[in-house]
Amino acid sequence: MPVYEYEHLGRGCGRGKRFDIRQEVDAKRLTDCPACGRPVHRIFSLVNVNTPKTNSDLKKPGLHQARAPRQGRL
Ligand SMILES: [Zn+2]
Repeated sequence: MPVYEYEHLGRGCGRGKRFDIRQEVDAKRLTDCPACGRPVHRIFSLVNVNTPKTNSDLKKPGLHQARAPRQGRL
């Protein structure tokens, strides 16, 4: 589930001026703070951290396929 960051339009509350909240991807975006009920707007969505794209990119098997073809070796 992605984490979304929201910001109070006016003053913040006990959750702070900005807060983040975990929501389903297809969940409605919040228009008011679940804690104080004042209006909020969504700032941006943080990418879920459990997808280590950099590591899997390094392990791509394609990187090892630059060898000479077998036929050249007799
Ligand atoms: Zn609030």
